[in-house]
Amino acid sequence: MTNQLERILPTVQKPARYVGGEYNQIIKNKDETDIRVAFCFPDTYEIGMSNLGMRILYAVMNRMDGVWCERVFAPWGDMEDAMRKSNLPLYALESGDALTEFDMIAFTVGYEMSYTNILNMLRLGNIPMRSEDRHGLEHIVFAGGACAYNPEPLADFIDFFSLGEGEEITPEILELYRTAKKESWSKEQFLQEVSKIEGIYVPSFYEHTYAPDGKLLSITPKNGAPMKVTKRFIQNLDDALYPTDNIIPNTEIVHDRSNLEVMRGCIRGCRFCQAGFTYRPVRPRSPELLLQQAIDSLENSGCHEITLSSLSTSDYKFLPVLARQMQDYCTPRKINLSLPSLRADNFSRELMLRLQQVRKSGLTFAPEAGTQRLRDAINKNVTEEEILETCAIAFEGGWNNVKLYFMLGLPTETDEDVLGIAELVYKILKTWREHASNKKRGVRIHVATAYFVPKPFTPFQWEKQITPEEYLRRQKLLKDNMPSKSIEYNWHAADLSRLEAVLARGDRRLCKVLEEAVRRGAKLDGWDEYFSYQTWINSFNTCGIDPDFYTTRGYELNELLPWDVISDGVSTDFLKKERECAYRNETTPDCRTKCNACGANCLLEGGKCDA
Ligand code: SF4
Repeated sequence: MTNQLERILPTVQKPARYVGGEYNQIIKNKDETDIRVAFCFPDTYEIGMSNLGMRILYAVMNRMDGVWCERVFAPWGDMEDAMRKSNLPLYALESGDALTEFDMIAFTVGYEMSYTNILNMLRLGNIPMRSEDRHGLEHIVFAGGACAYNPEPLADFIDFFSLGEGEEITPEILELYRTAKKESWSKEQFLQEVSKIEGIYVPSFYEHTYAPDGKLLSITPKNGAPMKVTKRFIQNLDDALYPTDNIIPNTEIVHDRSNLEVMRGCIRGCRFCQAGFTYRPVRPRSPELLLQQAIDSLENSGCHEITLSSLSTSDYKFLPVLARQMQDYCTPRKINLSLPSLRADNFSRELMLRLQQVRKSGLTFAPEAGTQRLRDAINKNVTEEEILETCAIAFEGGWNNVKLYFMLGLPTETDEDVLGIAELVYKILKTWREHASNKKRGVRIHVATAYFVPKPFTPFQWEKQITPEEYLRRQKLLKDNMPSKSIEYNWHAADLSRLEAVLARGDRRLCKVLEEAVRRGAKLDGWDEYFSYQTWINSFNTCGIDPDFYTTRGYELNELLPWDVISDGVSTDFLKKERECAYRNETTPDCRTKCNACGANCLLEGGKCDA
């Protein structure tokens, strides 16, 4: 630790975020290392250390000979101020070396509101923000993660994007870089070669033009870059590296528990959900392997909680077997087995009783909409009866705490749908009165509403976002119709979700807005303490860009979209058909019930999904 850092740390909140040295961190000998990667998470230590993708890729990169991958997180504001005052550049936790010491700087980007953190981290590390201002092979900046599916708002800053799952493509990138470094290639030569790897998108190799009405007119690849870049994808998850010797954090993190990834992909196809399409098709891990991974990670970490994670864990087809085996291991050791958000339709009594044996955590459901009509329109294949039945089982089993997630502003939503949320919540309350086995403690129903953000690669990618004023009206309507001491209602901030929509569907003209916002001090936008809507509005005004162009304007079905150069395997025709079904309030069966020919199976060797 440097003297500067030692002086700063007692003056900031949570200094443990900034020191590294945790159990299981990977230290290598610099003399035996020929590629150093600064793996940056554009948010705080607590969030980044909970990120599964970061854990996996940290292990993948560090298993390569001659590669040392270290972690870098965004500092909280007090630390950033102190670093700037002391001229301490952003550094990696393992070695304490500044970003400028690294060959490659990788970002994992899962949330649009972390874009300013990327730019701010580069600035704090004394790395030029714009790709064109970084010359030579040093400090190649690349990024992956969910937001890479529409990389355009970051196009001027990131040298290349890695699309899809990183386990296989990341070693390919690093091996190419090793060759480039050994043979002293120019940056241009490296970008040229890396663009030939399947799943790599080099934004500077594409020229965008715009029509007088502001719509995107053309995307022209140059330097031999492909017309379509298709995501990378792991065929068999059992063959992919899953680390069970993760770093044990020095301080409390958001998900302070072992994590078992039971499958990738989702069989459902909720029409608003980007992950539900971009991770297709579903691939389960085998229960035998998962049990071994669970035991290894619990023994290596000493954790007393393990969660079975995936986009929809209750759809994991071997869940009853796995839960039984896990219970046999966990119960005698007093280890809590938890599941993230559950679907109401297949939540079995057996599973609930199993989970109940160690500790009752809160129940979380995401019906997303209050009426059956709207749930059908968004393809949330769950009925009111199923929700109430599930709650009845839970209340009989002793649960008294339910969290319910909804969205406001979904396409086709009316006031009747908004009021339907309140009706559903009251029916759940009534169910508790009728079924609770333990009424002494009372019941808490937490209701949360998000503001619908249309996302690329979903059937709703063309839809309008309602105005913030209209969102606030609907939110008030719901609040006024849900007065009860047992109900706690929280809602997402309108301004933040509006901005999220701009960045989610934006084009590369937004790069200058991002740069301007960072220049004006924007950072940590996902945090109430830092988010300043006015900073953004001023930045849009300075750059002459109207945010409504990307939000309340519906995109035309035949319009060229900024992300049209990228493919996740699902066909645009399928998305259009799904959109039509939404307007007819028609559901589409899940992939296990019937294949609906979305196109993602073409990514699989053999072409057949294992839903
Ligand atoms: S091809 Fe069929 S089974 Fe496979 S993800 Fe698409 S809809 Fe589901």
